[in-house]
Amino acid sequence: MIAYRIKQAELEALIEAESPRWLKKASTRTAGFRERNCYDESSTIWSYVKAVYMRLQGDCKCAYCERKLESTPLGKIEQDVEHFRPKSRIRAWTLPKSLKDQDIMVTAVPDEKRGYFLLPYHPLNYLAACKPCNSLLKKDYFPIAGEYDLAGDDPAQLHIKEKPLLIYPIGDFDDAPEDLIRFYGVSPQAVAPNGFNRERALVTIEFFKLDDPTERKHLFRERAFIIVALYPQLEKLVDGTMDREKDDAQQLVDGFTSPKSAHTNCARSFRDLFQRKFQPLF
Ligand SMILES: [Zn+2]
Repeated sequence: MIAYRIKQAELEALIEAESPRWLKKASTRTAGFRERNCYDESSTIWSYVKAVYMRLQGDCKCAYCERKLESTPLGKIEQDVEHFRPKSRIRAWTLPKSLKDQDIMVTAVPDEKRGYFLLPYHPLNYLAACKPCNSLLKKDYFPIAGEYDLAGDDPAQLHIKEKPLLIYPIGDFDDAPEDLIRFYGVSPQAVAPNGFNRERALVTIEFFKLDDPTERKHLFRERAFIIVALYPQLEKLVDGTMDREKDDAQQLVDGFTSPKSAHTNCARSFRDLFQRKFQPLF
């Protein structure tokens, strides 16, 4: 995962350009949910803004696993607009034993029949995710360490109160995922040696099976291909004798570590590891 920094006003401008009057319709629907004190509607409109999130997330990457997906419009079929905070119900997530052993605690879900009924149309409650990450893994789970507030209507405020154990990569109020999770080779690791940031990293890695070479073997393969391609370019930056060769290598390194490439966090972690080893030469 990596961060996609954007102000709410900038995000709303992109949404308005993509689907004029969507924000107005979203606001009207949210007012209805507030009045009725629940989420209920017979049709939805969030798919109209899916392309905004696809483009924002490194030109069509899954926000969680960083797999590159097809671009718009064809790519719409292979990814979902995911509600970070579930809109209609929250399923209790069972903490795996490996995390229980690390003394991580998850708050009990107060009412599994209710969700965040004021957030189905909040722009900072969306991201674009691939089908395995969204439909098979995220589902209606939302583990937190703080206090649930299902009537909350501001994700930035909720972030403080609820202490989510998953990381939200869009906007400017959550930690950057790469500050919490880095890669050692092809394997994601928590950056912090202890504390809540470590817990969030461990839960996010476990939740999306980002370190599971069996169930997510293609993630591992793709990361390995990137490292294999990146390594000789980093070597050229150290050993290359011709300026032209170094310029070409730098361009390739910049490409692999750009937000628009697949598995950017993995590529950046490898580049940084390499550069630490050859620090005096950079
Ligand atoms: Zn994914």
